[in-house]
Amino acid sequence: MKQGVVIKNVNGYFYVQTPSGDVHECKVRGRLKKERYSLLVGDTVSITNDGWIDSIEERRNSLRRPAIANIDQVIVVVAAREPDIHPLLLDRLLVMIHHSHIPPILVINKYDLHTEDTVKLKSIYENIGYTVLCTSTYTGEGIDELRYVLHGKISAFAGPSGVGKSSLLNAVDPNFAFQTGAVSDKIKRGRHTTRHASLYSLDESSFIMDTPGFSALDHTGMTVEELVHTFPEFGDHDRGCKFSPCSHSHEPICSVKEALAGGQISEQRYQSYLTIKSELEDQRRR
Ligand code: GDP
Ligand code: ZN
Repeated sequence: MKQGVVIKNVNGYFYVQTPSGDVHECKVRGRLKKERYSLLVGDTVSITNDGWIDSIEERRNSLRRPAIANIDQVIVVVAAREPDIHPLLLDRLLVMIHHSHIPPILVINKYDLHTEDTVKLKSIYENIGYTVLCTSTYTGEGIDELRYVLHGKISAFAGPSGVGKSSLLNAVDPNFAFQTGAVSDKIKRGRHTTRHASLYSLDESSFIMDTPGFSALDHTGMTVEELVHTFPEFGDHDRGCKFSPCSHSHEPICSVKEALAGGQISEQRYQSYLTIKSELEDQRRR
């Protein structure tokens, strides 16, 4: 019996990578049939020598869309310029990642093009407590740090197109393009290929989720109270609000608004909060 991580699920077969790096094509045991439909890419499983999945380890977390288990972190990539950073889009993405209870890490790529605005933005997110990496696939800045952050974890990359996500992955692991190509060749032989999430292995213990559309996680159904909890910087300040819960908008005596006036909370982040809040309220009214 060996343990491994499910990296792909195609046509009823689960591809399980063991710590040696070998990938085994496996089927699910009869008595696990019930779990077969819920078995997800990212699950840690025990497999027999003849290719049966025998048991599933308890999950740390799971997402429905994309269907994946045990994501340790989301690497949110933006570019210093080309395309310019759109703070509201960035904050919307961070909100949804927090709402999924997955820690985000912010990467500002194309740092070779950075300006004063980039430095300001960096400090806003560092002050909130986020890990912020500045990278450039052109100069090599920050690539070792990124590699370090990815080590031993299952990570997903998110962010607008054109910011350099593929370039970063190739910089972290030059085999990236080659190896993903090799895996998909094998998969193409299946007749009814489905587009599930799959994992790309950087090394025996580090995986990258390869799924288009991760950035499209949506916030349908989130309440304003839940939204408040996705802004980590509000947490330090909400104890002094007169009303509980407080939406930190129209209420008198609000410690979040006091912190905003005192400069401890960024105006830009607060504006994102108000915009996302009204989006949620519009959704409810409909
Ligand atoms: P993706 O859509 O997020 O996967 O972005 P790509 O990796 O395809 O990169 C988009 C463009 O940005 C390409 O033309 C890259 O050459 C360029 N690019 C990637 N990384 C950097 C960087 O660090 N600095 C600069 N100036 N350009 C970069
Ligand atoms: Zn308040």
